[in-house]
Order: sequence, then C-alpha cells, then structure tokens
Amino acid sequence: MEIKPLQNYAAGQFVDPGECTDVWVHNPSTGEPIQPQWNTTSAEIEQALQLAWEVHQVGVWSDVSAEDRATLLEAIADRLQQNIEHIAQVDSFNTGVIIALTRTITQITHLAFRAAATQVREGLVRALPGPHGTVEILRKPWGPALCIVPWNAPAALAAHKIANALAAGCPTILKPSEWAPYSSQLLAEAVDQVGLPPGVFQVLNGGPRVGAALVSDSRIKAVSFTGGLHGGRAVARACATDFKPAQLELGGNNALIVLDDADLDRAADGVVAGLTTLNGQWCRALGRLLLHETIADKLLDRVVERLRRLRIGNALDEESEMGPLIHSDHRDAINTTLSGYTKKGGKIIQVSALPESPGCYFAPALVVGVASAETRAEIFGPVAAVHTFATDDEAVALANETPYGLGGYVFGRDENRALHVARQMRTGGVKINGVSLMSLNHMAPRPAWGLSGLGVEGTRETFDFFCGVSVVGIAAR
Ligand code: NAD
Repeated sequence: MEIKPLQNYAAGQFVDPGECTDVWVHNPSTGEPIQPQWNTTSAEIEQALQLAWEVHQVGVWSDVSAEDRATLLEAIADRLQQNIEHIAQVDSFNTGVIIALTRTITQITHLAFRAAATQVREGLVRALPGPHGTVEILRKPWGPALCIVPWNAPAALAAHKIANALAAGCPTILKPSEWAPYSSQLLAEAVDQVGLPPGVFQVLNGGPRVGAALVSDSRIKAVSFTGGLHGGRAVARACATDFKPAQLELGGNNALIVLDDADLDRAADGVVAGLTTLNGQWCRALGRLLLHETIADKLLDRVVERLRRLRIGNALDEESEMGPLIHSDHRDAINTTLSGYTKKGGKIIQVSALPESPGCYFAPALVVGVASAETRAEIFGPVAAVHTFATDDEAVALANETPYGLGGYVFGRDENRALHVARQMRTGGVKINGVSLMSLNHMAPRPAWGLSGLGVEGTRETFDFFCGVSVVGIAAR
C-alpha cells in the first residue's frame, strides 16, 4: 500500500515536520519498513500554539454561529464518509487491526462529526428562571484544545476528540501516536477540503516529547488524552500546574466472569472476542478470566478448541480473524511478562498457528496457575490470566482486585443474577453475555474508575468536556 510521506497540518498547510528520527514505523503484518518517525520541532510547536491562541483571541472559530459550525462539521463528516474505505485500509495497514474490524470502527469518524454537530444544534445556552428575567447557562470553548491519541484505533479515537473540541468552538491541535500517524492526515485532508480557517485545526506529529511540550504550554486550555498509565500520569501532573481540565482515558485489566449456569459456547465465543478484538490491544480487552470452579475445565476446553481454529494473518487479508501486534518492542514486552509468570509457576496455553512471516504475530495466551495478586497490571495484549472462584462474592472480589476500572463482562443464563454480579463490579461498564467494541447505547457514557482514568468520555460528555460554563443574569436589587 502506498502511504504519503508524513506531514503536519499547520496554519492551513500540509508541511514536513522538521525532525526525522532514527526510529522506523514498520508494517506489523509484514515487518517491512514504512517510514521513519518524525518529530515536530520546538519552533514549529511554538508557531502552531501561537496561531491557535490568536485564533481563539480573535474568535475566528468561536464566533461562528452554532448553525454554521454544525453545518461545517457535517461537511467534514461527508468527506470522511466518502473516504471511509481508504481510512479503514490505512489503519489496518498501519496498526495490524484486521480490515473487517477497521471497516466498522472507522465509521465512528464521520458519525462522531455528525453527533458533535447535533450537540451544537441542541444549543449552547440553557435558561433558568432568575430574580429578574432569565439566568443564562452559557457553554463556551475553554480555548485551544489538545487531543492526544494512541495507536490502536487511531482514526476513530482522534475523530471523537477533535469533532467535539471543534464543536465546542476550540481551536484544536491533534497529536497522533508516533506509531500510527497516517490516518490523521486523512482527517486533516477532510477538514482542509471544507476550508476551516487556518489554525482552527492543526495536526502536529511526534512522540511523547512533542505531546509533553504541548500539554505544558499555558495557551492550551484543555487536554483530552487516551493512552497508557505512564503518559496519563505525566499529562495529569502537567495539567495540574494551571488546573487545566484533563480528560484521561487510560488502560484497563478487565475481568470476564463465567458463572456456573452460563451458556459455555456463548461464553467461549466471548472469551475469544475479548482476547482477539483489536489483536488484544484494546483498553476493554479481556485481562482476567474468572471461572466458576465447576465449569472451568469445560470452558477452557471450548476456548482452546476455538483458538486452535483462529486464523491469524495479514490485517488486510479479508480472511484474517486476528492480525499482528503493533511493533516488536511491544511483543518483546508481552513475552517478558509471560516469562515472569512462568517463573512464578504459571502455565502458558498458546495453541493458535502463526503465519510464516516476519510480521509481528503473537498467539493469544491463557495463563493458569499464577496467584491473582500477581496479575493485577494491564498487559495490553492478547493475554488473559485465569482464576477460579466458588461463589459470586468471590468472583466480584477477584474482578475488583485490580486498581483499574474500565470494562467488565459477566456470562450467566440467569440474567438477574448476572446483573447483580455486574452491579457490584467497580468499573466503568459491564456487558452481560456478550463482548463487543460497540457501546450498549451510543449515548451511554464511557466512564473510567481508578487507574483507568479521569473524567467521562461519551457523545455528550466529551462535548461538555471542551466547554467551560458561564452563568449570566440580572441580579436581585
Ligand atoms: P502511550 O501512553 O504510550 O501513548 C499514547 C499517546 O500519548 C501517544 O500519542 C504518545 O506519543 C503520547 N504520550 C506519551 N507520553 C506522553 C507524555 N508524557 N505527554 C504527552 N503525550 C504523551 O499509549 P499507547 O502505547 O499508544 O496506547 C496503549 C495504551 O492506551 C494502553 O494503556 C491502553 O489501555 C490505552 N488506551 C485506552 C483507551 C481508553 O479509551 N481508555 C483506548 C485506547 C487505548
């Protein structure tokens, strides 16, 4: 696949970033080099920040009427929708996520812009009765907003953030992942075609250093970050200096509980989906498989049988059911974690066949025989630690044993019992008898507990995040 040379989108122009690094991005499916990683220089960062600040001061974007802003957002959505297959192909090529899945996920790109337009149209002003006339609750843009995204679903995650930041009226800077930057250019092309004024939307490429320089600048007034715990903590610390609103969507070590009355075939399908969706590199992926002791062996047999049949292959191959990991350092890190489990007496079950290819392939792994206290950290790969329980209370305690709280799953035929278990799980959301990337309802919030983050993402919630609130009215005499 032909990929254009990576460029920034700054001041309404596509320009080469100033600093080429010696780290290369490879096609994870084939191991072939694509391009080196590029960093935006300090001078380029300064120019972009200053322009975003001036755009905000002058009101170039925030003064555009709600109706006109919504219309422009919908025009961007139209452009993205027309290019959707290309965006899906680029994300599969770059991340190793299978094309069957990126085709679904990248629909979020245009849907996010349409949803954001709806938010704007629903009104930026709410009214309450006051002592003399109306009390206005105004939602106004905080100012220049920064959106930082990871590599696992780059186009969709970026679109959700930038659509809402732009909808709120914020001049918006996107910092894509250094490992998966290419679809961000396609988002920038859609914005460019619609003709937003220069500086309203900019894309600056680079790694953590570029992200950190942007986060800590006082002209950035709100930061929406999706990524790992380490980066999230650094962003939180930097935002604390100016009390800058920060939305942090971090990792998870998500439990899947199988109760003794579960439909074991359905549960086994759910386990495989939890392990393989986004190649296991998914913030709500399965991390801890919690099985009632009476059905544990039967369930594991079913999972192993499915994993033996799993077709792992090139992400752009329509037949592939799972693709490769993002890069070899990540695969090495996962293998190191597995070696640590083996040293602690764990047994690793990996039965899926891998293609003969220098791509970054890795067979999904089940880990049995390691104490639950040793499996609390997120791995961010297709690995699940298996633990058994005798009572529903024990299952809940095991699920709540990690410091995270993003997703969770419960399988059981008695839905009332499964719901009772789910309600006790300290986590942002629990699905009963199913594992899917899709929300239970597209307007449902996506909260994070504990080390999984700060603030709540969602169709309405992310829009609200980028808005400051002002209450204005005539006082009592
Ligand atoms: P990462 O934290 O290494 O990088 C994410 C982004 O943050 C990248 O663009 C990176 O350049 C930037 N970054 C890193 N350190 C930074 C710093 N100090 N200051 C500013 N920017 C910085 O994460 P990753 O490896 O790209 O993605 C994997 C992680 O993302 C996993 O932990 C996963 O669970 C999490 N994730 C969470 C969600 C969610 O919705 N909660 C979704 C996807 C991924």
